[in-house]
Amino acid sequence: MNEIFHLQQSVDYTTAQTILEYSYLLSAVFFVVGLKLQNKPDTARAGNIWAGVGMFLATIATIILDKDSQGHGIKNLGFIIISIVAAGVIGTYIARKVKMTAMPQLVSFFNATGGAASAIISFRGFFETPHSQTGTILVSLLGVLVGSVAFTGSMIAYGKLEGKVGDIRAGFMKFVNLALLIVSLAMIVVLMILPEVTTEVTILMYGLFFISLLYGVLFVMPIGGADMPVVISLLNAFTGIAAALTGFLYSNYAMILGGILVGAAGTILTIVMCNAMNRSLWNVILGGFGGSSAVQGDAAAGIIREIQPSDAAVLMSYSSKVTIVPGYGLAVSQAQHTVHELEKLLESKGVTVKYAIHPVAGRMPGHMNVLLAEADVSYDKLVEMDDINPEMEHTDVVVIIGANDVVNPSAVNVPGSPIYGMPIIRADLARNIIVMKRGMGKGYAGIENPLFFLDHTRMLFGNAKDSLNKLISEIKTL
Ligand code: NDP
Repeated sequence: MNEIFHLQQSVDYTTAQTILEYSYLLSAVFFVVGLKLQNKPDTARAGNIWAGVGMFLATIATIILDKDSQGHGIKNLGFIIISIVAAGVIGTYIARKVKMTAMPQLVSFFNATGGAASAIISFRGFFETPHSQTGTILVSLLGVLVGSVAFTGSMIAYGKLEGKVGDIRAGFMKFVNLALLIVSLAMIVVLMILPEVTTEVTILMYGLFFISLLYGVLFVMPIGGADMPVVISLLNAFTGIAAALTGFLYSNYAMILGGILVGAAGTILTIVMCNAMNRSLWNVILGGFGGSSAVQGDAAAGIIREIQPSDAAVLMSYSSKVTIVPGYGLAVSQAQHTVHELEKLLESKGVTVKYAIHPVAGRMPGHMNVLLAEADVSYDKLVEMDDINPEMEHTDVVVIIGANDVVNPSAVNVPGSPIYGMPIIRADLARNIIVMKRGMGKGYAGIENPLFFLDHTRMLFGNAKDSLNKLISEIKTL
């Protein structure tokens, strides 16, 4: 600690500022390169390291070199260092322990902590800023709003992903959310107009904090089922924006840039997700769509036809075109290596094998891409939904492994279904359908899937990895 204090003292204000700005510039380079490397599964790990080094550099530089105009370095050094070390140890422990299938919860939790930190800093920043600095006051107020929404919204999303928080679905929620949004924006305008901090202003500020926290809860509460990916990416964008606003408040370039990068990436992802789910962003912000509760059109019934691994092996081996649709169940059973083995085996028999990738399959954006990349599945075998759908009619066998919502035809032909309008992989159009799952369990959206009752569907029940192993053994005997 003393060493850091001496380092702080050893550099004069101007030199410290110059080195600090160059350090932030260098961190920015690390962030951008890190983000670029994260574009591809095989370089993503290196991308994380680059971004981590950038963050480490920015943090150390701030601790040692950040000074006020009187040349005083940052205070509470002991508290800061202890917090960083404690958070680092806890974060490392959680990240190492977390299961791959629980990653979205972890991301939501980290989003929440980022949002909370930004909201608290912005709240404090408001009272520290002279009211004549209208721009800075506006930034602090927006920081409170966006940070609080990111915090409570992400905590509710975390609870929903864990299955601990249900949906509250009522038509009026949309209007309550709209009212809360208008009230909070009106409070921001009033707080900007008032000339100085008085008791009324303090009360109003606490009011804004509370309403923003409440809005975060209420806008995520009605969203559920298949629409969760959109809200998760939106909350991710909010956390980035909140961090950038906090950076503006304290003129910290590293925070501004880091926040903008996260905010921009999250916003792009939200738009991609909205397009993928055929939803409007405005509806997401008002919390007015989705839901996991069963509604009209949910009933699906009929005869379930099973298939044994031996018959499935024959069907697939003598096909010319097989398409695999991976889903959440593949991740749960960690069958990515086994499915790759099946793919290689079939290809060795002259079968053309492709993977149909739905943008929201699994529990996090890009989940299937990451999972299959881990098993060294060639990237050019992964075909996006829009490109594979036209081929479905000419596919001999579609093998659905632990996927459910992303192949549910209710999205296309049951207008009352909660997933109506969501684009799906048109497995129903293939000549033969084999579905691998443990039983008749529902998917994340909590609704029945009429696909399982079609005449040309055969169910291969069992844990995905076990079924795949049996299938491989059978194919080897042919
Ligand atoms: P689903 O959640 O719709 O279905 C998964 C299916 O896998 C279940 O029906 C389950 O049936 C089966 N399953 C579970 N474990 C196993 C296992 N060990 N072996 C075999 N089967 C298993 O998955 P999809 O990928 O089709 O859809 C993803 C859903 O998650 C969408 O609704 C999406 O909106 C939502 N979501 C996606 C996010 C994202 O960013 N990608 C984030 C949050 C939600 P059974 O119990 O009978 O085995």
